[in-house]
Amino acid sequence: MPIAGRDRLFPRVSDAEWQDWRWQQRNALRSLEALERLIPLTEDEREGSKRTASVFRLGISPYYLSLIDPDHPFCPVRMQAIPVRAEAVAHEGELRDPLGEDLHRPVRALVHKYPDRVLLLALDHCSVYCRHCTRRRITGGAEGGITREELAEALGYLRDHREVRDVLISGGDPLLLSTERLVELLEGIREIPHVEIVRIGTRIPVCLPMRVDDTLARALRRFAPLFVVTHFNHAKEITPEARAACEMLVDHGVPVENQAVLMRRVNSSVQSIKDLMQKCLTMRVRPYYLHQMDVAEGLEHLRTPLSQGIAILQGLRGWTSGLAVPHLAVDLPGGGGKVTLQPDYFIERRGDRTLLRNYRGEPYAYPEPRETDCRVPYDEVFYGPPPRAPAPRRSLRVARRSS
Ligand SMILES: *Cc1c(COP(=O)(O)O)cnc(C)c1O
Repeated sequence: MPIAGRDRLFPRVSDAEWQDWRWQQRNALRSLEALERLIPLTEDEREGSKRTASVFRLGISPYYLSLIDPDHPFCPVRMQAIPVRAEAVAHEGELRDPLGEDLHRPVRALVHKYPDRVLLLALDHCSVYCRHCTRRRITGGAEGGITREELAEALGYLRDHREVRDVLISGGDPLLLSTERLVELLEGIREIPHVEIVRIGTRIPVCLPMRVDDTLARALRRFAPLFVVTHFNHAKEITPEARAACEMLVDHGVPVENQAVLMRRVNSSVQSIKDLMQKCLTMRVRPYYLHQMDVAEGLEHLRTPLSQGIAILQGLRGWTSGLAVPHLAVDLPGGGGKVTLQPDYFIERRGDRTLLRNYRGEPYAYPEPRETDCRVPYDEVFYGPPPRAPAPRRSLRVARRSS
């Protein structure tokens, strides 16, 4: 049995220090030299760390570092935390702002891309700098942080925009704010009557789980409905500490969802995604999205073909709990927003029967109903008369396959 990472790497650190998230932050590994004192690096990692040093921060909490397999360059935790040469290589078509977010920033701390929800950038730093970060133009520190004034400006925008009913707080990692600052921000948001739900996007349960304590969980619960959306990418990250953090939140009435990113050779197999999703459910963390990697600078080596994501979903749907099946999301380059893909179970329409294949690939017929008028008579009672006649739309036809 190899010695657990913590005992091997930080034998003299007391439990009290280890469990103190501020100690973890102060002692994060932030340079190649610091890293090399603790684990043997490959030549590729050494070069990668040098070449990316001027491009994007290095930062690994002692806790996350302790999960790294020192003997294996393809350890999924390692690949998410330590740069390699490929990260310093740009390819044609890659973007600094892959999702066109800066085109939709009415004020500096907000991205407003969808009709009824916004992304609020609460701060610009993280407990661990993911090597697959696609928002490094912000988390890289070059924008110089997000000020109180900019957050106040964002709240002003939210007050003026009644259509916003969902605020997703991200960054950077919002749970690196002190609980006081976080509560202050949440109080500001909750004063706005039309904001129905709040989400916090955070990697704290994965990278710095000791940040989640009773005080934080209680504080978040005050702002229900509030969802924590976290970011586990591999079953190896689901440790007793991570589990305790997620269960603390859920026990206090804060639902936790997971957004994973599909990354080549990190988690790009049916087996690793299935295991991750099933283990998330054992912590009562609900799989939400599986993200196709964005077309961002330095990430080509982590991208998978779209067909691999679909093959993975095909290996989940039907074969395991539906609760363990995430949506496969592609955030369209240039700012089109997210769309989801799934395996095609449609074979063909034959008269009033639609032929579908099941998860095992066997054909089944679904007889279409005779009546097709789907207007809901009670809508008018419940919602009142429609405000205006809906604009005529092109009718949707069921696609026919030629082969
Ligand atoms: C992903 C995203 C959201 C939230 O999208 P959901 O599909 O509702 O989870 C909101 N704003 C931006 C800019 C996003 O990228």
